[in-house]
Amino acid sequence: MGKTRIITINAQNPEGEKIREAAEIIKRGGLVAFPTETVYGLGGNALDEHAAERIYSAKGRPQDNPLIVHIQSIDDLENIVEGIPKEAERLMKVFWPGPLTILFRKKPVIPAGTTAGLDTVAVRMPAHRVALELIKAAGVPIAAPSANISGKPSPTCAEDVYEDLYGKIDMILDGGTCPVGVESTVLDLSGPAPLILRPGGLTKEELENILGHVEIDPGLMPGEKPRSPGQKYRHYAPRARMTVVEGPLELQVGKIVELAKSLEKSGKKVGIMATAQTRHLYPHMTVFSVGDRNAPLTISSNLFSILRKFDRMGVDEILAESISKDGLGLAVMNRLNKAAGYNIIKA
Ligand code: AMP
Ligand code: MG
Repeated sequence: MGKTRIITINAQNPEGEKIREAAEIIKRGGLVAFPTETVYGLGGNALDEHAAERIYSAKGRPQDNPLIVHIQSIDDLENIVEGIPKEAERLMKVFWPGPLTILFRKKPVIPAGTTAGLDTVAVRMPAHRVALELIKAAGVPIAAPSANISGKPSPTCAEDVYEDLYGKIDMILDGGTCPVGVESTVLDLSGPAPLILRPGGLTKEELENILGHVEIDPGLMPGEKPRSPGQKYRHYAPRARMTVVEGPLELQVGKIVELAKSLEKSGKKVGIMATAQTRHLYPHMTVFSVGDRNAPLTISSNLFSILRKFDRMGVDEILAESISKDGLGLAVMNRLNKAAGYNIIKA
């Protein structure tokens, strides 16, 4: 593929003409990266096997990792799935549009190429005007994984997409930064209890308010076999080696300072991922605050962009504090631990 067009678009009030141009590309079987409230998606026609193939090839995505299908209205759902569980109906009413992906049995219109051969399809309705209007104008559901090279930190602004996919896709719609910053929560309702296959932007607590008890796939623990194919891969990873430090906060800080000093002595360039509460405790070191421990959305929205920033700076070793796994913290720690390849130490 040749050039990628980059179009700035108004996130609150997208210009119709730009949406129509992007929708034409999708209808023709091409690829458009667009903003959602979670991360940037790499969109193609979900009903077109060849568009799915192009998505896998642009991202270098493993063939067995199915794509999430995005729709713009709950009414679109019955065209693509078989049998909508009662719980799904309740959840969609409350949380769609939003960062919740639900698994359904797929109808034959969804090609095997989109679902990596599975007979289930993961569907969500994104809470972003650009995404919703693009899907509507395209007139088809849009398959969209994160718009990054497979394995790298997910893209939360158009520059991140450009860095990974320029020249490999037709268009990038630049609608600014993504407010949530981590991907959607993936939920399986087919078993005895609702099961989170991937923690994400909608919290376990929010789901439990509607469903009662919700479980987390035990396969998400290191060394286990996850139910969701995509969760088995090293993911979200910066070039640098990364270590996550757990334990009481003062001890985390002490451990990171100690590790940073010894790594620097051996000639390594070290980057520290701290929080608003602790940033000042690392004087004379390369340190960024990922956000405020009391406002987890500030942390989720910055997480991937800081990992990319460390890479751009040529950092060799990233040392990251950990946060509580309550609320959005569950998704944040899942991404951090995976980015570190589960290189976690206790302080
Ligand atoms: P991404 O596209 O990068 O946001 O990743 C999509 C995630 O959804 C991956 O972890 C996939 O494994 C998961 N997913 C998509 N479709 C299915 C499905 N039919 N069954 C289980 N997991 C799915
Ligand atoms: Mg991804």
